[in-house]
Amino acid sequence: MVWYLATGAALLAAYVFTTLAGAPAVVGIVLGQVALMVSLTAVAIGARRYRPATRWPWLLILGMLLAIVGGFFPSGVLAGTASPPSVADVFYLLSYAVGVWTQATIVRSRTPAWSLPGLLDAGIITVSAALLSWIYVIDPILSDTDAGLPTRLIAAAYPLGDLLLAAFCARHLLDGGPKGVAAYSLAGYVMLTVIPDTLNTLDALAGETRWTFLVSVLWMAGGLLLGLCGTHPSMRDVDAPSAVAAPDLGPARLTMLALTSLLAPAALLVQYLRGAPLYVPLICASCGLLFFLVIGRLAGLVAIQRRMAVTDALTGLWSRRYLDGALSGLAERRNRRAAVLLLDIDHFKRVNDTYGHDGGDRVLREVAQRLSQAVRRGDVSARYGGEEFVVLLPDTAPDDARVIADRILTAVRSEPITVGGDVTITVTVSIGVACLPADVSVPGELTLLADQMLYRAKESGRNRVVTTSDTAVVTAAA
Ligand code: GH3
Ligand code: MG
Ligand code: MG
Repeated sequence: MVWYLATGAALLAAYVFTTLAGAPAVVGIVLGQVALMVSLTAVAIGARRYRPATRWPWLLILGMLLAIVGGFFPSGVLAGTASPPSVADVFYLLSYAVGVWTQATIVRSRTPAWSLPGLLDAGIITVSAALLSWIYVIDPILSDTDAGLPTRLIAAAYPLGDLLLAAFCARHLLDGGPKGVAAYSLAGYVMLTVIPDTLNTLDALAGETRWTFLVSVLWMAGGLLLGLCGTHPSMRDVDAPSAVAAPDLGPARLTMLALTSLLAPAALLVQYLRGAPLYVPLICASCGLLFFLVIGRLAGLVAIQRRMAVTDALTGLWSRRYLDGALSGLAERRNRRAAVLLLDIDHFKRVNDTYGHDGGDRVLREVAQRLSQAVRRGDVSARYGGEEFVVLLPDTAPDDARVIADRILTAVRSEPITVGGDVTITVTVSIGVACLPADVSVPGELTLLADQMLYRAKESGRNRVVTTSDTAVVTAAA
């Protein structure tokens, strides 16, 4: 990689120096071709050396570089978007198509489950970029009646290719998963294609050559960045599935999305102040679309927050907050038959003391899983406190509650639990049961009574179920 960087920098410097020194165009062309060959070789060597699990992206990147070489060779000079249709255009446009295909392949394999938040973020960027591209680049090209239709269509195909490249690149970068040098080099290549392409088109539309030199330097640097992807070990992970299901909306991403969403109204203002065409229907449609994308993103965030608020992070069971809500809901129902089981793991402190907190956590997770497997879908299994769990059984008679409690008791103690490495232990639970309306008259007293029954279960030796019918004293808080 160091060799590659040094060679690339030397080629770029030689190009800048010779061009500024007024060397014949052929020198620049040769340097450009050499840079592309170096880039191609780097990708080919990298693919052989690092042996990525899937070869597709790398074959496509090689194809993309070959297409650029193919376009560069016949055109003789770095072709501009306003050049008349030529064989160079065919190759260049092919390089865009293959580039989009490469990015799409990477995106598909990184996010097999689509990851809606990342898709919405990239959608926001794409809608804004498409609007700007249409107003300032594509529409002016298509409306340029001096040029023939085929020329205009081909010239417009470049910014369209840029837009697609940028859209897939945004999708890749915003998927929330970790990225290495290779991924960023690929994104750099996209940037160093889109920016000079746009400058070049703006020049061509204005009939000027303000950016010609800068454009050729950026294009050359872009080609070299494509080669850089192949020289870093992170090339293996470029298309590895991203472990992040929903990328976080941190301050940086939020700021970027907010600013991007403002581009559409900003474009309207700029056009208005310039006395240029306003594109009112198009800008209104874009603002509407952006509005829906932002609302969709926010709705997703609210859903995640709401789920987090009612879920216990360690066990995945419902949280105590959710259980309290379910108990209040019960109070409002007409048919208020229900049972509450309060479970407490026996001698859990010993587990923590002997196998560490991590071993204790494993036990908690396993007990929670067995618990939720032992009850029905509509029952509410919640983590009540440290090593205490509550199951709310709606519409359940005392006899059935007892049967379910016994089932849970057996499910927990029947199989040992792994606490780390090969070490397994057997744990037991004590369960207190309280039923509505048999034991208490209001749902709010269910857990109180279940706690008293649990206390009795502990007192009488643990590893058992205790209901009010097991005890002489029924202490319903009536
Ligand atoms: P008993 O049979 O009487 O219930 O005895 P016990 O040791 O289970 O009871 P105690 O209430 O004294 O101990 C509960 C322990 O649970 C103490 C606390 O450190 C531990 N604990 C609470 N929350 C967590 C947690 O999230 N993870 C782990 N590993 N331990 C926890
Ligand atoms: Mg306890
Ligand atoms: Mg305990």
